[in-house]
Amino acid sequence: MKAQEVINKFRDTGALLEGHFVLSSGLHSAVYLQCALVLQHPRAAEEFGRRLADHFRDQNIQAVASPAIGGLIIGHEVARALDARFIWTERENGKMVLRRGFTVAPGERLLVVEDVVTTGGSTRETVEALQASGANVLAAASIIDRSAGKADVGVPHVSLASLNVPSVEPSVCDACARGELAVKPGSRKEQQAVNRNG
Ligand SMILES: [Zn+2]
Repeated sequence: MKAQEVINKFRDTGALLEGHFVLSSGLHSAVYLQCALVLQHPRAAEEFGRRLADHFRDQNIQAVASPAIGGLIIGHEVARALDARFIWTERENGKMVLRRGFTVAPGERLLVVEDVVTTGGSTRETVEALQASGANVLAAASIIDRSAGKADVGVPHVSLASLNVPSVEPSVCDACARGELAVKPGSRKEQQAVNRNG
């Protein structure tokens, strides 16, 4: 599966929008990704999972771990393709942790999977939480890398497609300078709030 096919699948399902957007980080970008809209189609999720798994078939991955919520569907599909266990981390008092009785064995060979890596923050936190639990985290993988390869997640990282679209502070955003309204895709309420502030 070529990177362009992955991007096309996102575009066809409305998961990739082009315009002028406020990202959850507060930064502005000409591209907005909502992976849930492509991953709502199990066949697409399964294919992405299989393609990511192809990078790790000879590495004896024993478990795949993902940060909730974004990583759950794709992580589960990668784990299925590798015939590995699937677990997830989630935030507790702001800290990424394993809950629900999930444990890792000392030295267990893990792969961390996310839907999108932007800054790499949640992936890195997941890697660190697993390492602190004794796991041997071999690598990380995501469907999309929108950091232009710059995100440092603490372990080697692969993705199916890279999006080289800058995310910038509103104060240096070209579209804002042209007077174009930035929108936050999602609820109508959110859009109105952004418009009032914008
Ligand atoms: Zn802007």
